[in-house]
Amino acid sequence: MRYHDITKDDMKNGDGLRVVLWLSGCDHKCPGCQNPITWDPNDGLIFDDSAKKEVFDLLSRDYISGITLTGGDPLFTGNRDEVLLLLKEIKDKFPQKTVWLYTGYDFEDIINLEHLKYIDVLCDGKFIEALKELNIHWVGSSNQRIIDVPETLKSGEIVLYS
Ligand code: SF4
Repeated sequence: MRYHDITKDDMKNGDGLRVVLWLSGCDHKCPGCQNPITWDPNDGLIFDDSAKKEVFDLLSRDYISGITLTGGDPLFTGNRDEVLLLLKEIKDKFPQKTVWLYTGYDFEDIINLEHLKYIDVLCDGKFIEALKELNIHWVGSSNQRIIDVPETLKSGEIVLYS
């Protein structure tokens, strides 16, 4: 698995101040995507132990609310195995921190993925240029949902994060 960047103290990709991991690999190819550089899964740096240590060191800071996995698409098929291990490790080491994940898939397409057990908030759906919205928090187009994953799994219906 490869990544393009690890950013810190980010306020634009989820609630609070967050660590953001920008992974490589996405095959949704949304017209108007702001990050086409991240589409190629073979581009970027290898997410090795030292990159993971950097993420964990940042996450251990008291004022950091949690981590956001984005890209690219963290649920790109080539990323899934490694992302699942990473999610498990994060929840084990930092149970008090929240995990947000951005994906181009709709929630209904990935409902059976084990990953969901380790995600607090899922921003789902492709970016659709015709539905672009500048005034909504955290997502780029109005079709994309900000989903409270634990509540959604519990109730069996989509519950939006608020
Ligand atoms: S899912 Fe996200 S990263 Fe992938 S093409 Fe669409 S907007 Fe870009």
